[in-house]
Amino acid sequence: MSRVYNFSAGPAVLPEEVLAEASAEMLDYRGTGMSVMEMSHRSKAYQTIIDEAESDLRGLLHIPDNYKVLFLQGGASQQFAMVPMNLMKNKVADYIVTGQWAKKACSEGKLYGTANAVASSADKTFSYIPDCSDLPISEDADYVYICENNTIYGTKYKTLPNTKGKLLVADQSSCFLSEPVDVSKYGLIFAGAQKNVGPAGTVIVIVREDLVTEDVLPGTPTMLRYKTHVDAGSLYNTPPTYGIYICGKVFKWLKAKGGLEAMKQYNEEKAKILYDFLDQSKLFKGTVVKQDRSLMNVPFVTGDEEMDALFVKESKAAGLENLKGHRTVGGMRASIYNAMPMEGVKKLVEFMDDFETRYG
Ligand code: PMP
Repeated sequence: MSRVYNFSAGPAVLPEEVLAEASAEMLDYRGTGMSVMEMSHRSKAYQTIIDEAESDLRGLLHIPDNYKVLFLQGGASQQFAMVPMNLMKNKVADYIVTGQWAKKACSEGKLYGTANAVASSADKTFSYIPDCSDLPISEDADYVYICENNTIYGTKYKTLPNTKGKLLVADQSSCFLSEPVDVSKYGLIFAGAQKNVGPAGTVIVIVREDLVTEDVLPGTPTMLRYKTHVDAGSLYNTPPTYGIYICGKVFKWLKAKGGLEAMKQYNEEKAKILYDFLDQSKLFKGTVVKQDRSLMNVPFVTGDEEMDALFVKESKAAGLENLKGHRTVGGMRASIYNAMPMEGVKKLVEFMDDFETRYG
């Protein structure tokens, strides 16, 4: 067996311990004589899996009792529609546009009402987070929407926007469980699983219970109402059973690692190695303003497209996979999620140093 260091932005690296455990349980899950993939979602064994996943997640994030946790399907993108369908009662929402995912969510919001882009960092290719201390928040806004970590551009909110009392909705797909968060500051958080917690398709929603009502936009399908899934404990229909099982294992792995405080410290140490290298390099350059740098996604360039391509090619040959930047921005991007070991980042920096000596 030969595993590479996988710097993909998502689907992305998962903890080896989790994959090994899932592999050992593949043919016979704990004496049931079947794989979790083959198991009824109504069985006792599966109910235990989903219950434990929820309770471990609640423990990790200290989710207050008045918040519901949902394990849904449709990826993070489905939430771009579910959020307005369920929360846009006045048909007005404010979006802070810090990259393509926020932009897509804002466009989706426009299908259901007035979705205002109240701030944007498009003027500098989304390389920073706008000042959100005094935004022109709409008086009748149902919510203020952010993409908290911008996977493509490598920016992260270090302080949450001043929503002037309005609900905050956050897409945390690419920073989910990478550090502690105060859930009580949000009305709703959602995260696609395929970066920090599990297989693609599964999406986790954490929503304040008073926001879960029957009062949704007319025509909202049953499957797209939060209430449907809250009432059924995420088992209204067949949920992404295997995905939830893997997420549950990742939650246990995070607990064993010391929880989110410990994870934050580890992630900061890892990211520092890479950012420190970039800051002194004469060949490579980080593309994000220092104060808004993500701990999870680190984009960088040489300034020469051919050199970038050569770097991607040679790094792949050295066992460092998926370092090519997003197709819309070019350059390179190292995604260093929770499960990327420190050794992987050190190996990357060694490789970059060597590359610079050879071509710089
Ligand atoms: N939001 C963010 C921040 C993302 O990075 C992504 C995917 N890379 C999405 C949303 C879309 O996720 P999905 O493909 O699961 O719909």
